Amino acid sequence: MVVTRFAPSPTGYLHIGGLRTALLNYLWARKNGGKFYLRIEDTDLKRNSQEAMEAILQAFEWVGLDYDGEVVYQSKRFDLYKQYVQQLLDEGKAYYCYMSKEELDALRAQQMERGERARYDGRYRDFDGTPPEGIDPVVRIKAPQDGTIVVQDGVKGDISISADEVDDFIIARADGTPTYNFVVAVDDATMGLTDVIRGDDHLYNTPKQLVVYEALGFTPPKFYHVPMINNEQGKKLSKRDGATDVMDYKSMGYLPEALLNFLVRLGWSYGDQEIFSLEEMLEKFNPKDLNKSPSSYNLDKLNWLNSHYIKNCSNDQLAKMLEAFDIYIFSHDKKEILLDESKERSKTIKELAQNVYMIVTDPEEFDKKAVKKARKNADILKEFKAYLGQIEQKLHLPSDYHQVIETFLNKNDLGFGKLGQPLRVALLGQMAGPGLDVVMSTIGKDQTLKRIDTAVEFFERQEG
Ligand code: GLU
Repeated sequence: MVVTRFAPSPTGYLHIGGLRTALLNYLWARKNGGKFYLRIEDTDLKRNSQEAMEAILQAFEWVGLDYDGEVVYQSKRFDLYKQYVQQLLDEGKAYYCYMSKEELDALRAQQMERGERARYDGRYRDFDGTPPEGIDPVVRIKAPQDGTIVVQDGVKGDISISADEVDDFIIARADGTPTYNFVVAVDDATMGLTDVIRGDDHLYNTPKQLVVYEALGFTPPKFYHVPMINNEQGKKLSKRDGATDVMDYKSMGYLPEALLNFLVRLGWSYGDQEIFSLEEMLEKFNPKDLNKSPSSYNLDKLNWLNSHYIKNCSNDQLAKMLEAFDIYIFSHDKKEILLDESKERSKTIKELAQNVYMIVTDPEEFDKKAVKKARKNADILKEFKAYLGQIEQKLHLPSDYHQVIETFLNKNDLGFGKLGQPLRVALLGQMAGPGLDVVMSTIGKDQTLKRIDTAVEFFERQEG
């Protein structure tokens, strides 16, 4: 059985790099009918916040990654960690170290002076004398003193590290609290993890975690250290580049499907396929195909994917999503026409909201440049209004309005621009935007006439 986990530290919101890690673990577990756990690494009580914890859970819910069982909180497992520290002490695989902070600082200074790397020198490893007074000891693990530690990594291959690069590191602080690498290894082992997929910024922790596995007699999981996501310039992704809160993507109008699709491709590929539904990801994902080199964040690609997923949504789904942007058109009688047109021109739900708003709301202002051009043909607009006003047959579809415009232009022997420009400004306040027939069909004849009136009045008030 494949067992994976996502193990965020709740020191801030869930950012997209974290979500990518979560997704890869989720896919591998679900694909194999295994387990995917969520473990909150909240042992650093000073740096954790309840808010961050909730933000992580909220982001998980939004993207729809479901995890098995209850959320595991490290802060609730201190007894377990203590038990394992004690076990190592009892077995002589760990020991109390009474070195004071001053001594440790002095040792560090000497090592630096000699151009050596700072490392604990093992002075209490075999100590059996009387402990110095007034010192609360830390517990250190006995790391191997010679040979190599090999990290077998599914992405990077075997990485051998000389044993002397890992000193007898602290597994329990003087106040008894366990340290990071110790608890991660204990948790991964006791939660039955078979595969750990995580960012390669954690690679330097792995040898220490292997020392813990070895001492406790646990079998290590398979590790996959995934290269970072860089910006388009190949530098570390910053907030400005898009390394923001996953929930920001929701407020920017991205769909979870698009974001997950975008993230899975940052670090993994399957031929040259770009579009992956969750089902397809599940079918095709294998961590052995994770890329060895860093990926780069590309906003155009995210927008392209988002447009794709927006176009594939039903209009009912879109209408529901628009409600988060204060657009309520679920029961609008022209919902289909309105959204069919608007979704073609929208990269995000936010843009869709703007495009819909532009149609359903009377223009709040008129673009100056557009007015300057359009008002030359204000008379034609007036005539069109009169013509439209006297039509008795019911106008409904964009094609009905298209026909009206066409007939009017033919009758008066006019090119489209002469009417198109002022009508556009009247209906939308500006030149750019959707087809006029769609706008008129959506808002109906009465509203069209009203917008024309307002614009004509405005044109007439302009001087020059
Ligand atoms: N808690 C770590 C983090 O938030 C992840 C630890 C791990 O995956 O081993 O980056």
